[in-house]
Amino acid sequence: MFPNLTDTEPPAFTVHNEQGKGGVVLLCDHASNYVPSQLQNLGLDPELLTTHIAWDIGALWVARFLSERLDAPLVFSNYSRLVIDCNRCPEREDLVPASSADIPIPGNTQLSPLELASRRTRLFDPYHNAIDTLLQTRAEPTTLLLSIHSFTPTLHLQDRPWPIGVCYQNNSAMAKCWRVALQEQLSDSVGDNEPYAVELGIDYTLPMHGDKHNIPAIMLEIRQDEIATEVAANSWGETIATAWGHHHEKRKLGPSHLSPKK
Ligand SMILES: [Zn+2]
Repeated sequence: MFPNLTDTEPPAFTVHNEQGKGGVVLLCDHASNYVPSQLQNLGLDPELLTTHIAWDIGALWVARFLSERLDAPLVFSNYSRLVIDCNRCPEREDLVPASSADIPIPGNTQLSPLELASRRTRLFDPYHNAIDTLLQTRAEPTTLLLSIHSFTPTLHLQDRPWPIGVCYQNNSAMAKCWRVALQEQLSDSVGDNEPYAVELGIDYTLPMHGDKHNIPAIMLEIRQDEIATEVAANSWGETIATAWGHHHEKRKLGPSHLSPKK
């Protein structure tokens, strides 16, 4: 069984820029590829834990940049989605995936109910409770939940041409504003619910917290080869911040939410 996290291991989640005064709250479910030491790399070659199966490569760089640029609180998980996927409905079997991209995860097969419960109460629940608490206690109104993910350039031998996709379940009008504002800055086409839509019953973070707190929720998926370095990720952060600025201008709110760039 997966015992308590040791003192040398990270907390389940981090809240960055908690007092940020911008209207956006940023979320990054797949920020980390870390596996608790007791789980012994889930039986995988450590090299595999550096690949996309374990985390969203580059996503945390973008999210951190935006947290500073938009003066927005950011909540992110400090554990790999292979340990427990913070963006999966808890009743789903792939909450703790037995395989990923056709690679079996030995440490996740024949999981006992106790082990599953242990991962959930130590990692999944604290992350979501932190988001919930933040949204309940913020002094400023939250006008947007923005979750940052990244995706692989190909899937099942198919190229995925969009450098970025705007993904949503509800809030299609807001998503369209985002697409237009991003497209103005890009030559390649922006994905419309590509590579994925946000789906109730599969995705958890945005449907759960957006609906509960009645806040519009958008997921941005960025192709991993676009954010392979921190410099490239920051550049994408700037593009996204500019799109958010346009979105506000169109609503005559002005760009006052933008903090000076550091
Ligand atoms: Zn993701």
